[in-house]
Amino acid sequence: MSQPVIITVAITGALPRKKDNPAVPVTPSEQVESTHQAFEAGASLVHVHVRNPDESPGSDPELFARVQEGVRKHCPGMIVQFSTGGRGRDQAARASMLHLKPDMASLATGSVNFPANVYENPPDFVEGLARTMLEHGIKPEIEVFDLAMLYNAANLVKKGLLKNPPHVQFVLGIPNALPARRTVFDFLRSELADVLPGATWVAAGVGRHQWEVNRWCLESGGHCRTGLEDNLRIDAERLAASNAELVTKIVRECDRHGRRPASAAEARAILGLPAAA
Ligand code: ZN
Repeated sequence: MSQPVIITVAITGALPRKKDNPAVPVTPSEQVESTHQAFEAGASLVHVHVRNPDESPGSDPELFARVQEGVRKHCPGMIVQFSTGGRGRDQAARASMLHLKPDMASLATGSVNFPANVYENPPDFVEGLARTMLEHGIKPEIEVFDLAMLYNAANLVKKGLLKNPPHVQFVLGIPNALPARRTVFDFLRSELADVLPGATWVAAGVGRHQWEVNRWCLESGGHCRTGLEDNLRIDAERLAASNAELVTKIVRECDRHGRRPASAAEARAILGLPAAA
């Protein structure tokens, strides 16, 4: 029996611009359309950032609401995950859309250097975000950009701020943070199994590391993340034509590793989320 893999599509992100790849969706209608194509291709979870009209990172809850509404309408059961990431947003704005009660939201459990700035997540701020998600019934996706964040997540479980078992994403390949090295990937997985037994996990490889990390996840029983947020190219020769094309690349690789794309209903069951209304 093949084992289902939840394919996350990170459709937009905070940085990529249409001038870098015209396929990057930036308006809510483009985002819903791109998500729908990715859903049809096999993605069961969408990770959402919104953009202002000038393409800068947005925080307007109205934009998040429009994307969520469109995805719920056109992609039945697909898991909606909002980013609470810091790029281009002040701290207060990062939680300002959580009252919309997406299925999930990202939660980085510590601070780290990014290529040109510090991604600041002080302990009080992290606990506040975790508490808000708990109050709204939102399942966090723990973002591990650096090693300490894994143990911080385990402490949040101990404090009752994070429900067990959590869902954890390892982010590999961002300059100044964790490198996309197989030894690091293997170490993170073995530590996770030790400090958060039963946790589900996924890894994201950024830029040219995306495809390599996708394959590591398929062969190791993890879930996969792809999308134009992390990588604009389908391979060294060509820009990706769409988020769906990146998803399809993973779907085609599944068989070789005894995997198949999880349906939205299966993805919800794996992550302990309620069935879609
Ligand atoms: Zn993101």
